Parts: sequence; C-alpha cells; structure tokens
Amino acid sequence: MSDFSATTCVRAAVGTDQSYGAVIPPLHLSTNFTFKGLGDRRKYDYTRSGNPTRDILGETLAELEEGHGAIVTSSGMAALTALVHLVDADQLILAPHDCYGGTFRLLTALHKQGRARVLFLDQGDHRAFENAFTSGAEKVGLVLVETPSNPLLRVVDIAAISAICRRHGALLAVDNTFLSPALQRPLTLGADLVVHSTTKYLNGHSDVVGGAVIAKTADLSERLTWWANCLGITGAPFDSFLTLRGVRTLSARIRLHEENAAAVAQLLSDHPAVAKVYYPGLASHPGHALARAQQQGFGGIISFELNAGIAGVHAFLEGLTCFSLAESLGGVESLVAHPASMTHASMAAEAQARAGITPQLLRLSIGIEATKDLICDVSLGLDRVQALRTQPRSDVDSVSRAATY
Ligand SMILES: *Cc1c(COP(=O)(O)O)cnc(C)c1O
Repeated sequence: MSDFSATTCVRAAVGTDQSYGAVIPPLHLSTNFTFKGLGDRRKYDYTRSGNPTRDILGETLAELEEGHGAIVTSSGMAALTALVHLVDADQLILAPHDCYGGTFRLLTALHKQGRARVLFLDQGDHRAFENAFTSGAEKVGLVLVETPSNPLLRVVDIAAISAICRRHGALLAVDNTFLSPALQRPLTLGADLVVHSTTKYLNGHSDVVGGAVIAKTADLSERLTWWANCLGITGAPFDSFLTLRGVRTLSARIRLHEENAAAVAQLLSDHPAVAKVYYPGLASHPGHALARAQQQGFGGIISFELNAGIAGVHAFLEGLTCFSLAESLGGVESLVAHPASMTHASMAAEAQARAGITPQLLRLSIGIEATKDLICDVSLGLDRVQALRTQPRSDVDSVSRAATY
C-alpha cells in the first residue's frame, strides 16, 4: 500500500475542536448558522450548502484521492447525478456496457428523455473508444470508467484511456468504489474525477448510504459544489459523521479484506467444483499484470462459477454460516450474491450472457472475519457441490429441474 496515508484516515481533524478540545470533531446537526450581524456572514449559513461535519469528510476524501476538493452526497447515485451535470446535454457521455446497474438505469433514462447523449461500450476495447471520439458528429464530454468492473472484475487501463480523453478534450471520471483510495488512486493515473459509493468500503460497516465525487482541479471542484447545492443532493451531517468514523479504519480493514480474499481465491481456484474464478490477484486473471501495475492491491471482491448447474448454487448457499445472502459489498461482514437473480436481475438474459453473467456465477464480498472460519465455510460449501457432482447423473438432473431461481 505504497503512499496511501493511513495516518490521514486516522487523524482526520482530530484535536481541532475549538469549543471543548474534543479529540473527535463534534457532529453538527444544525440546519442553519447565525450571522454575526447584518451583512456579516460566517463560514457556514445553511447545511444544504455547507456543513462543518460534512466538510471534514469531503476534505479527508479529497486528500486520500489526492484531489483538489470533493463533494459528499446522499448516495453513490447522487454522486453520479452530480457528475452528469458537468456536461452539456448535447455532449456525448461514454460509459461501460457492464457498468453498475443503477448507473446504467440513470444514464439510459436521461438518454431517453433527451437530457443526455449516452453511448455504452466495451471499456476494454480502446479502438471502440477511439472510434466513439472520431466517428460520431457529437463531441464526447465525459468518459466514465469502472475498474475493476462488477461482477467479473475486468481491469481497464486508466492511464491509456486518460491519454485518449486528453487528446480529445473529454473529462475522465473513474468509479473507484470497488477498491477505495487505499488500493487505487485514479487522479494520479490521469483521471479528472473520482466517484464513490461511500456505502461500500469507505464507510465499511453497511449502515450508511452515501457517495462522493472528488475533483482534480479547483474549477471542477467549484462546479460540483455548485451543482450539489443546486440539486440538493449533499449528504446528511449524521451520515457524514458515521462515514468519517468508518474512514478512520479504512487502511486496517482493507488489509484484512485482502488477506482473506487472497486465501479464499486460492481455495476456489484449487477446487474441482469450481469452473472459473474471477479475482485480479490470481496470476491466471487476464487483468492481473495491469492490476498489479495500477493498483496497490487486489481488493476483497471475488466472483466464481460453480460447475454443477443451479442445483450446485443451491447446495453451496444452503449451509453457509459466515456469508449472508445479500446485495451490496465492502462491509466488515462477508456477503454472497447471485448476480443473475439479484444485482443484475434487471438485465435481459441475452445481456447477462454477453456480460458473462451465467446462472452458476456467485459474487463474494469478503469480510474481515477470521480467515480460518471463512476458509472452512467456503470449503464445506464446495464439498457439498462436489458431492452433488459425483452423484449418479440422473439424480443431478432431477435436482436441477426442481431448483429454479
Ligand atoms: C453501489 C454502487 C453505486 C451506487 O451507490 P449507492 O450508494 O448505492 O447509491 C455506484 N457504483 C458502484 C460501483 C457501486 O458498487
């Protein structure tokens, strides 16, 4: 984790309270702030526009991502809403065809209403990117990248895409939710903006929905701040307070997520009941070398395919004790999701197939429980699948037919 400042996380505004010398900065819930006198405004007047507790979180995130400034929003989707307001309606937005479902829904809806021009493409295909810039009549205003992607952990080259954007005068935004600034800092690789769902690793405790956009320059930062206030999408002070508490332990948590993920990924890739493992930390992953170069670690998300049909998926899930069947990710507790019926259920079957989301695919958000407990739980789950595979063929078929998702 070279350069990443665990110290910045832990010490954010510690000991700065002027009233009582509180070690941890107090939570300011007040919606409004008095004027000192007529025409004599203090630093803050109204919490939608600015709030001391939220500002500490924003300044900390900006420092961690090595940006100029940040806005803190009420959700990751609010952060993306602020982001799309940076481009004019006649400018094209390029986004990955396998982007986060909520992002896909937002951009598609805006496109349909004529409020934005959006083109979805394979973000790993640099030629498709170049073509989008040069072939259409429209000017590209914004490129959005997600790396590693969800749920197949595809890794794309931020610096290479940044070079294309720079040549054509487009802004590059990277959704850094899957890694957090502890493991990837897109602004240092040439991006102009970083988007976060702070709901995930930054808060890290699955108890706050929030978001942020971090800008590289003062100009972008000012424009975002203006829009966040105008749209009314700034984050609540209490949520900011909790998220800042989560951020203080980010560095320690991420180390444990990674340690556990590496162990589970190895177990999965060695087991006969597993057809495929998607984890950039494995040398067999197609994005391994790139991830090693542009990331400071491989993160805590693993996807894998079982090879015993949908019955195998049931056998694996039913009996797990350390993994809860739930959407979302990045909390201290381990989760398992079935993308085809959960996170990516809104995608048509053909679109799922194109994106590589099969009915046998599972996604793990590896938590920070004891490594041996996670290994034991996954291992027993895989053995249940293996037992099913070694049953006489007709039994497997009848279970497959009975089990539907
Ligand atoms: C969860 C998520 C979002 C949306 O964030 P919310 O906080 O749920 O609004 C955006 N991008 C990615 C990659 C996410 O995982």
